[in-house]
Amino acid sequence: MTTITATILDGNKIATEIRSEVAQEVKALAATGVRPGLAVILAGNDTASEIYVRNKVKASAELGIHSEKLTPPGSVTTEELLGMVAELNRRDDIDGILVQLPLPTQVDAKRVLVAVAPEKDVDGLHPVNVGNLSTQRPGLVPCTPAGVMEILKRSNIPIRGQHAVVIGRSDLVGKPIAMLLLNANATVTVCHSKTRDLPAMARQGDILVAAMGRPGFVTGEFVRPGAAVVDVGINKITDREEFTRFFAGDAAREKQFAEKGSTLVGDVDPHVAEVAGAITPVPGGVGPLTIAMLMANTVKAFRMRRGWS
Ligand code: NAP
Repeated sequence: MTTITATILDGNKIATEIRSEVAQEVKALAATGVRPGLAVILAGNDTASEIYVRNKVKASAELGIHSEKLTPPGSVTTEELLGMVAELNRRDDIDGILVQLPLPTQVDAKRVLVAVAPEKDVDGLHPVNVGNLSTQRPGLVPCTPAGVMEILKRSNIPIRGQHAVVIGRSDLVGKPIAMLLLNANATVTVCHSKTRDLPAMARQGDILVAAMGRPGFVTGEFVRPGAAVVDVGINKITDREEFTRFFAGDAAREKQFAEKGSTLVGDVDPHVAEVAGAITPVPGGVGPLTIAMLMANTVKAFRMRRGWS
């Protein structure tokens, strides 16, 4: 049974705040006769991708953002996708273009992603936006990393001058989080699978971000007492033994596991809540921020394309 002493950083609450701010902005724009637009390309029938895209389209509708879904078959070619992206780049009513990953294996994903106009790249993955972030120029920032920063800032977690340790160096998550923390004046250490003595390295962090894709990997020995821990991982577990290790004595989880045969755990062992000063839960931590920041990015792209501040 976990004795939680950490403050739980409620991602659902923060995401709701951001969504309502975006909705207000969209409403103000609508009053002047304009509406931001988002296009999502979903190639093939990946079940998880279908759910993500459905949620993105639903969030757009709730906030008053125009959205459309393009669904080429799993057999789509790189050239066909490039054609779709080029058409969306041309359209003035589309401010954001999101190519849902993973793309079918025959597609050259890098070519497709780089074809998205940087000013419409609401996923922030285009090399131009990566460069903008690393040189502190205005641009579009990847949604999950942007969400991590919103959680820290809106929870009044100090960043400036703090030592932040990021475990994970993917282009999508770890690297942009590290860059955002550095830009916010943290001292940043980036760890990965070749890092020596990871627990000791992680323990240096006043802020510890785990973005590894390893269920419950970060245990108490990785965490400086009182540190703020942000758990980006989303892992489904089905093994009873693994479940017991993380959630024994948690009645709500027991019920869910019995009913569904699975539950979600982050990259951080839930028992870390006994050591950390603050921690994001899974689910309900970083996850909800990703779509909220996509909505915010779409409005940001709308404004930036028109040269509005
Ligand atoms: P990824 O591309 O697989 O990258 C994982 C990173 O973790 C790599 O840099 C890898 O190191 C490092 N790593 C893996 N095992 C490690 C170990 N044992 N010790 C130290 N470092 C290790 O994954 P990702 O796309 O960044 O995603 C990370 C997690 O975030 C996943 O659980 C994913 O589901 C989740 N995620 C959540 C959201 C959200 O909305 N909350 C969004 C995106 C992703 P190397 O580089 O050396 O291989």
